[in-house]
Formats: sequence, C-alpha cells, structure tokens
Amino acid sequence: MTSGDPLRDLAESTRAFYERFGVTPELQSCLTNFNEEVFELVQAAMDGENKQHIAEEAADVFVTAIGVCMASGISIEALVEQVYAVAAKNDAKTHETHVFKDGKIRRRVNVRRD
Ligand SMILES: [Mg+2]
Repeated sequence: MTSGDPLRDLAESTRAFYERFGVTPELQSCLTNFNEEVFELVQAAMDGENKQHIAEEAADVFVTAIGVCMASGISIEALVEQVYAVAAKNDAKTHETHVFKDGKIRRRVNVRRD
C-alpha cells in the first residue's frame, strides 16, 4: 500500500521495518548506520561508474536519516512537513535572491550604495 508520496512511503516503510524486527531506534546505532551509508554514497559517487549503485547508496542514506529522526523523536508527519517546507523554500529562491558562489547557492548580499 502506498500513499502516492514517496517520502512518506519510505518513512512508513522504515518505521515498519524497525517494528517488524522489534527494534526501537537508538541514536548512537542510528548515527553509526547513517555515517556508514554516507561514506558508501561518497565512495560510489566518487567512483562514478555505476549509476545504479550511486542511487542505491543514496536511498540507504535516506533510510538511515529517517532512522536518526526516529531515534530523535521526530514524527513522520513532522519530517514530511519539513522536507516540503525546504522544497518550497528552495523553489522560492531566484537569481534575484541567490547566487551560485564557491560551490554553493548562497543568499545574495545586497550592497548598499549610498
Ligand atoms: Mg549502503
């Protein structure tokens, strides 16, 4: 059963996965798992050859990030809400408000000319 919202489905799947194994997410182990998956994603991306492998590792990062949130007491609803808030915030950024500089999209600094 899917909600039609991939993020919500992944969060619900992660919650059910832990529940099926009788696991209450604990912060230290969730952070360890998250760090391992980030490292694997970095390695896959730097290798760059196997696109499917990069996508798999990115998905592992998403799942373990959800685990970190669960261990921190963040509800699925709060997580989903925050992800859409970030998307809306990024959607609102334009060339007038932001600029790509030093490898990152940054807020423009308006220089006053008095
Ligand atoms: Mg992995």
